[in-house]
Amino acid sequence: TATLNSALLPEVADFVSRDRQMLIGGQWVDAASGRTFATHDPATGQIITNVPHGDATDIDRAVAAARAAYEGPWSRMKPNERERLIWRVGDIMSERAEIFGQLEALDNGKSVAIATAVDVSWSADVWRYNAGLATKIKGSAITPSMPFAGPDAEFHAYTRKESLGVCGQIIPWNFPILMATWKLAPALAAGNTVVLKPAEQTPLSALLLAQVFEEAGFPPGVVNVVTGFGDAGAALSAHMDVDKVAFTGSTEVGKKIVQAATGNLKKVSLELGGKSPNIVFADADIESAVAGSVAAWMFNHGQCCVAGTRLFVQRSIFDEFTQAVADAAAQAKIGPGLDPTTELGPLVSQEQFDRVSRYINEGLADGARALTGGKRWGDQGYFIEPTVFVDVKPEYSIVEEEIFGPVVAALPFDDEEDVARAANNSIYGLAAGIWTKDLSKAHRTAAKVQAGSVWVNQYNGFDTALPFGGFKQSGWGRELGDSAIDLYTQNKSVNIAL
Ligand code: ADP
Repeated sequence: TATLNSALLPEVADFVSRDRQMLIGGQWVDAASGRTFATHDPATGQIITNVPHGDATDIDRAVAAARAAYEGPWSRMKPNERERLIWRVGDIMSERAEIFGQLEALDNGKSVAIATAVDVSWSADVWRYNAGLATKIKGSAITPSMPFAGPDAEFHAYTRKESLGVCGQIIPWNFPILMATWKLAPALAAGNTVVLKPAEQTPLSALLLAQVFEEAGFPPGVVNVVTGFGDAGAALSAHMDVDKVAFTGSTEVGKKIVQAATGNLKKVSLELGGKSPNIVFADADIESAVAGSVAAWMFNHGQCCVAGTRLFVQRSIFDEFTQAVADAAAQAKIGPGLDPTTELGPLVSQEQFDRVSRYINEGLADGARALTGGKRWGDQGYFIEPTVFVDVKPEYSIVEEEIFGPVVAALPFDDEEDVARAANNSIYGLAAGIWTKDLSKAHRTAAKVQAGSVWVNQYNGFDTALPFGGFKQSGWGRELGDSAIDLYTQNKSVNIAL
């Protein structure tokens, strides 16, 4: 650890060298209560630094600041001015990619190389994409018929897409800076103001990002960041002066958010859990299917809502294919995220470590067989060996429930019909992978699987321009693409009697 900490960039070392404050109404502040909480390095369990323990009082302050900014300077900002400010955020992130990447790796445990090349650089891309959308928010012109108004009456109507107002955004710890970006960028492009509540496990990159808004020239109060726990998120979801709440996290908490939102019926969008099927047909390109199927559940240590954790393999290649997946997974280099050669880092927290360990033990007790893994790695930090289970039944908890760790359950199937039914046998519907060289089979299966994103001959095929979200209990609404703007605007019809 000493060597790793000495390898910190001076900016990161400086950032974590003292307790942080949060941003409300353009001021850096402590929690009203004065309380703080620690954020930990998951590779060692050691404290990195402390952040304000915000609660309902701080949420109140932040919502008031967001409301004042919404009615004040932000409402006078032209779309092209918003565009410029949002673009500037993307540029600053690119300029500081290494700093953001290292801070993210330190707080979350993910590999610094991936944090920088994927999380941060993609975030910068999402900022720029949404900058462009700020000037492309359009209504349409419509000629109403209005037959009951008489034959000679004439009308001209148009629609406007208007911002919602103050948005509460609650994000998880698995992709902290990226989730902050997916939420903030379209909300701001559409002209809203925001109160962001980062996850308690990983508050640091959102606080670093908060500095960028000041620097980019956003008026105070347009973006507010309140660090805290679930109670702060609950206060934000229930707040009567918040117009919309956007959430990414567990399905369980998503349901609580829907209930909390009933007070003022604020709009709600949700990106929730998954137990995504990854389907490998015998006619796939096996080499790329093995590599892609490993990445499907191992990327980000399995801490992905889209993780392809139900691996369906056609029976004729099942044994050979699952063994190849297990062998490839077992070769991943495990270590702390700050080590640039690390492929598999620690899980984010003791709680997640305990949760994943519990599932692995349940799987073994149920009678599943681990081709590789099945236990802790090392004796400090929250590391778990990548684990491939075979001999599983559909009703095992390792097959039905979201584990959020590097654990996959493999099941054989016979044909297209068979696998579509098995794949859809889930409360979730976030993503699916399909591997085959037969184009017709790929299209037929893509149409049959109940999932918001389907990736053919690849996995994790995300793009800034492609809408993303869940079927069934995986969520409400679609983020990314221009559909994200729909989550942050409402339509108004204006009808004029001529
Ligand atoms: P995970 O299970 O992946 O840790 P959660 O769904 O528990 O994710 O948490 C995601 C985010 O939701 C975090 O920012 C967390 O603080 C917040 N949160 C937890 N409980 C609630 C709640 N009841 N209402 C609103 N937000 C909550």
